[in-house]
Amino acid sequence: MVSEHHDHICWGGGHHHHTHHHLLLRGITAGYADAPALEDISFEAECGSTLALIGPNGAGKSTLLNTLAGLITPWSGDMLWNGAPLGEHRHEIAYLPQRSEVDWRFPITVRQLVEMGRYPAVGMWRAMRAHDRDIVDKALCTLSIEDLQHRQIGALSGGQQQRCFLARALAQEAHILLLDEPFTGLDVPGSESLSTLLRSLAEEGRLVIASHHDLATAPQIFDQALLLRRKLIAAGPVNQVLAPENLKQAFNRA
Ligand code: ADP
Ligand code: MG
Repeated sequence: MVSEHHDHICWGGGHHHHTHHHLLLRGITAGYADAPALEDISFEAECGSTLALIGPNGAGKSTLLNTLAGLITPWSGDMLWNGAPLGEHRHEIAYLPQRSEVDWRFPITVRQLVEMGRYPAVGMWRAMRAHDRDIVDKALCTLSIEDLQHRQIGALSGGQQQRCFLARALAQEAHILLLDEPFTGLDVPGSESLSTLLRSLAEEGRLVIASHHDLATAPQIFDQALLLRRKLIAAGPVNQVLAPENLKQAFNRA
C-alpha cells in the first residue's frame, strides 16, 4: 500500500486532480528591522487556481512570497496548508525568485537542477532510484526541455531557465508554486507560453502564486488576485480586484 502510493507519479498525463488542497493565511504581519512591510494579511486560496500579487513597488509582493517560502518568519499570524502549519510542509513549496536574484553562473546542468527536486525525497547523498529518474524524465518532458538537459543552466534564455525551475518544482511534487515577477523580461511569445504553462500546472491541481506588475495582462493570465499596499486592499477574481476604486487606493490614481 505504502509502496504503491510511493511509486505513483502524481501529475501529468492529463489527470486532473481536484483534491482541494487549501492555503489559508490569517493575520500575517511581516517586515524587516522595525517597519512592517506587510500588515494583517488574510486570504484563502485553493489548488487549481492562479493567483496574482499586484501592487505598486514596495507594496510587499516579494515579502509575501518570501514569507510563504519560509525565508522570512512572520511577526504574527498563521499560515495553514490543509489546516496544518505550512512550515511542516516545506516540500510542498517551490519558489522561483526574481531573475536578477539568481546566480545563473552556478555550474550545473539542466538535468542536475531538476534532480535537486528529488533531494527531499531521496536524501541528498543517497542514490536516485529508477522511480526518481522517471519523475525527472517526466518533468523534463512536461516542460519540453529534454533536449536541453545536458546544457549548463547559465547558457539558457530567461524563458528556458524558468522552465527548468518549473521542472524542478514538478520533480519535487510541490503543490504550491511561488514565482516572483515571472513575466518580467519575457517577449510576447515567451509570455504567452508561460501563461499557458502556469494555467495547465494549476489545472493539474497546483496553486500558482506570482507577483505581477502589468495590470493590462493580469486578467488574461490569472484567475484570482490580491491587491496589496502593505495592507490587503482587495482579494478575489482579478477583474473585481482591479476595479477603479481599488486601484485608486493602491496606486493613488484612477
Ligand atoms: P514589492 O515586491 O511589492 O516591490 P517588497 O516586498 O520588495 O515590495 O518590499 C516591501 C517593503 O519592504 C519596501 O518598503 C521595501 O523597501 C522593504 N524591503 C524589502 N526587502 C527588504 C530588505 N531585505 N531589508 C529591508 N527592507 C526591505
Ligand atoms: Mg518585488
